[in-house]
Amino acid sequence: MEKILVTRSSMPPFEEYMEKVRPLWDSHWLTNMGANHNELEKQLKEFLKVDGISLMVNGHMALELIIHSFHFPKDSEVITTPFTFVSTTHAIVRNGLKPVFCDIKMEDGTIDETKIEGLITDRTVAIVPVHVYGNMCNVNAIEDIAKKHNLKVIYDAAHAFGINYKGKGIGSYGDASIFSFHATKVFNTIEGGAVTYNDPTLYEKLFYLRDFGIKDEESVVDIAPNAKMNEFAAAMGLCNLKHLDDALASRKKAYELYVETITATKGLRFLGAANSDNLNYSYMPVIVEDEYPLNRDELKNKFAESDVYVRKYFYPLTSNMECFNGEYKASSLDNAEYLSRRVLTLPLYEGMSDEGLERIMNILKNG
Ligand SMILES: *Cc1c(COP(=O)(O)O)cnc(C)c1O
Repeated sequence: MEKILVTRSSMPPFEEYMEKVRPLWDSHWLTNMGANHNELEKQLKEFLKVDGISLMVNGHMALELIIHSFHFPKDSEVITTPFTFVSTTHAIVRNGLKPVFCDIKMEDGTIDETKIEGLITDRTVAIVPVHVYGNMCNVNAIEDIAKKHNLKVIYDAAHAFGINYKGKGIGSYGDASIFSFHATKVFNTIEGGAVTYNDPTLYEKLFYLRDFGIKDEESVVDIAPNAKMNEFAAAMGLCNLKHLDDALASRKKAYELYVETITATKGLRFLGAANSDNLNYSYMPVIVEDEYPLNRDELKNKFAESDVYVRKYFYPLTSNMECFNGEYKASSLDNAEYLSRRVLTLPLYEGMSDEGLERIMNILKNG
């Protein structure tokens, strides 16, 4: 029986990748904004329907650097959610800022926009919402709140590659958004990421922020790390982008089968809401409610008995992680606590086998 993990990286045909990296043996230009990097930046700008984009070594550094670029006063407060990958919270804390956790919505796991204003203080400087599983946040309401209180909005769009809303790329909402091109994401450059934005001045700023703050040969204008995307990673991105339609079509097939099974099974609930123009079939989160014959952990074990390895994304909430010593605990995260105790993320990737899908659906249906 084929062992099924929660994800499997999409890869282009081997020869295609070799063709793409072969010129590097002539140019000897391996990183620092080389030809592949610049071509990928151009293609992604178009694909993501954004005005501005800066490629990064990974999604995490993209988030750390865009937060850094605003130079908020130390210990300022940033409103965010705990139902996410730990990277979101780390990027705030590692910038010397304080995450203030807002609860999420039961239907899709995104920030509950009606609870944001109650958390705003005179120390609040920004909102960092997450388009979790590719489910779009209420970008209109968030924009209104941010305008009213003069706050920056930086979206963690790591899950939202290719999502559009009202004909515009999701990465064009807010002051900036970050994407992840990690091997496990719907589009990958092995490791990689990007910041997208409308303000054209951010391009130059991020250009030196990802390169030690070096503005030119004799001028270092900020204290910044190294976060550049190399030519081999960019080559992988160029090849994967070419095959993205096939990858999405394959994911869509599995996704639709899942949605059909989940909606027909008592006690299971699909954690999705389609407010966006399109879907990217990136994740398959399912909520195991009390009416289901097994609880979440029992269902996870049941899958493992059949060599299917599902994950508890996102559990625990980042607000409960030991590294933060309870420092950022919030009192009212009822929905986030509820969902994180009942969620499983099921296998979803390009090229899932019919046998594998059947095995998974049978377990879901029968518990
Ligand atoms: C993957 C991910 C990140 C980090 O991206 P990397 O490319 O792995 O550094 C940040 N936020 C969320 C929600 C993610 O899923």
